[in-house]
Amino acid sequence: MGSYAQWNRPFRALGTAMSEASNESSVSVAESAPRREVAEGFAKASVVLKPGKAQPFFGRHPWVLDTAVARVEGEATDGDIVDLVSDKGRFIARGLYNSRSRLRVRLYTWDHGEALDAALIRRRLDSAIELRRELGYDDPRGACRLVFSEADGLSGLVVDRYGEYLAMQATALAIAQRLDKIVAILSELVHPRGVVLREERGAVQMEGMAHEEDRHWGELPGGPVFIDEHGLRYGADLREGHKTGFYLDQRENRRIAADYVGGRRVLDMFCYSGGFALNAARHGGASDVLCVDTSEKALSLARANAELNGIANLHFRVGDAFRTLQELADARERFGVVILDPPKFARSRAAVNDALAAYHHINRLAVNLLEPGGTLVTCSCSGHVLREDFVHMLAGVAQRSTREIQILQQRGASPDHPVSATCLESEYLKCFICRVV
Ligand code: SAH
Repeated sequence: MGSYAQWNRPFRALGTAMSEASNESSVSVAESAPRREVAEGFAKASVVLKPGKAQPFFGRHPWVLDTAVARVEGEATDGDIVDLVSDKGRFIARGLYNSRSRLRVRLYTWDHGEALDAALIRRRLDSAIELRRELGYDDPRGACRLVFSEADGLSGLVVDRYGEYLAMQATALAIAQRLDKIVAILSELVHPRGVVLREERGAVQMEGMAHEEDRHWGELPGGPVFIDEHGLRYGADLREGHKTGFYLDQRENRRIAADYVGGRRVLDMFCYSGGFALNAARHGGASDVLCVDTSEKALSLARANAELNGIANLHFRVGDAFRTLQELADARERFGVVILDPPKFARSRAAVNDALAAYHHINRLAVNLLEPGGTLVTCSCSGHVLREDFVHMLAGVAQRSTREIQILQQRGASPDHPVSATCLESEYLKCFICRVV
């Protein structure tokens, strides 16, 4: 690859296919399992908690684990609406049931009178979209996360907007069952040209979902979708790219990091499609940027994006971060700024210690490459690694390298990835900007 020229052709306008797709009926619980007369959106069964397990759910945490459940009263099939009740039979919340998942019930409303129906989904989608409008993330040529699961009151649904297209992930079986309805509502609210469904492999397995290859509604993008961010243009591959095509969560961090570049030499380690590097060059006046990634495909995206923006002082190197950082140190290379944005190192709580050791390792090597007074931009997207753990890891790096590390900014994901105060699992990204003396 290396160029997007082949993809720069006019798109076929489409509206009818979207509205046809919109008219398809959803798999609603009431339609799929009419066992007992219950108003649409209300529960046919109750999930009763074990004694002493109710507190987090009165506290509006949306995940009911199998270990908290005593029994189901009435008949519930997977995807059905259920009421969550305490061991004393008191109503707590209403949610969607999945016997195949450890996450037995996901909660969507704590209001006894509120139906869990298409109108609720519409209100949540509307509110989520309104937030992005308020944030100024509604540039029609831009990209943003429109819906972020629990943080937008829609556990199991992620929707990203790339210009006129949407890329969607269903990480809950009950949401997957309702996708046609959700797409119909989204098409009324934001009129996308097309919607692409991206599968999250882990979720498919954990939720017992059917494997769905290449599902889409409306027009399928014929190549990368081009988007603007901070005056830079990128091609995002919605069908094959990482996540839904772009690391939208790093949007503000990419721009802020550039403010610390001050014309110096930059290392963008784990560069993917080059977002940090391009900002460092365009907005930070970097003398030159070395972009490293283990994936050839990622580097061709970064190269194509550099070309698209007419930026010539980016250099590319395929390699494993651990080895490349060591090789650069051995070659006595020095940088004014090192950016570390690795993939998720801890996939479970049990993996946290190993992950911290890996973070320590790369951060230690990165610090060794920094000139005195250099800037370290260091990230972790492992939700299981807490902010405090990350600071402790940095303290260890400072001690072992005998370099002072001054934390200047402790940042998170951009605000189109809000953190729910009652579901702290929605906080996962950490981005620390540090001066290394
Ligand atoms: N900073 C990027 C996102 C980085 S995602 C942005 O703003 O868009 C993490 C990247 O790390 C992925 O591109 C992945 O290919 C790469 N990666 C994974 N393991 C790696 C390793 N051991 N060494 C180098 N790169 C690696």
